Amino acid sequence: MGSSRVLVVEDESAIAELIAINLRHAGFEVILATTADQAQAAVDGVLPDLVLLDWMLPGQSGLALARQWRQAARTKELPIIMLTARAEETDKVSGLDAGADDYLTKPFSTKELLARIRAVLRRKAPEALDAAVEAGGLVLDPATRRCSKDGTEVKLGPTEFRLLHFFMAHPERVHSRSQLLDRVWGDHVFIEERTVDVHVKRLREALDKVKCAQLIETVRGSGYRLTQAYKALQA
Ligand code: CA
Repeated sequence: MGSSRVLVVEDESAIAELIAINLRHAGFEVILATTADQAQAAVDGVLPDLVLLDWMLPGQSGLALARQWRQAARTKELPIIMLTARAEETDKVSGLDAGADDYLTKPFSTKELLARIRAVLRRKAPEALDAAVEAGGLVLDPATRRCSKDGTEVKLGPTEFRLLHFFMAHPERVHSRSQLLDRVWGDHVFIEERTVDVHVKRLREALDKVKCAQLIETVRGSGYRLTQAYKALQA
């Protein structure tokens, strides 16, 4: 399992470096940007798991950037924590209005920063955390890289494991092939969409050994989802 990617958008280099050191120490991969343009370029390349976004940036503000991301289909669900030196309640409200998931006032402790990051990820991108997940009778543990059904281990290749982890972290939701490339492969530009089909087929073959292949449903014209509805049919 690769580590979670956090994009830190902060123009004050001392603060950016301090955050980066602490996040790397906690096991996160950190990408730094000092302007809204740089942040947009980073996101255009690889979608991060979470963004720490400073409010006051030279040029376009963090607030405007958050609003812009919320309006674009690809980034509308991107987990965002706003960072600000301003503690006024009205600022907090505008930050959350712009689409931020949470809001931290400088100075903050590393402990508080990590707690907020984990809380937002748990809510919006649980596959970015190492916690075990359960869905459809399967248990998957990213920390040990194991998946099992009623104690029987399901053997999965690394890509199938990441794909299943993502499906289990977001059960019942339909994911398009391009969303899956973005979130599971981290590459929506150079990898062809049919790569997703190849790995879904392999995943179903692996799940078939524990009679769970129907968990992964094809939604015509849309993509794939993990559904637990088929259980009702079996009962
Ligand atoms: Ca700043």
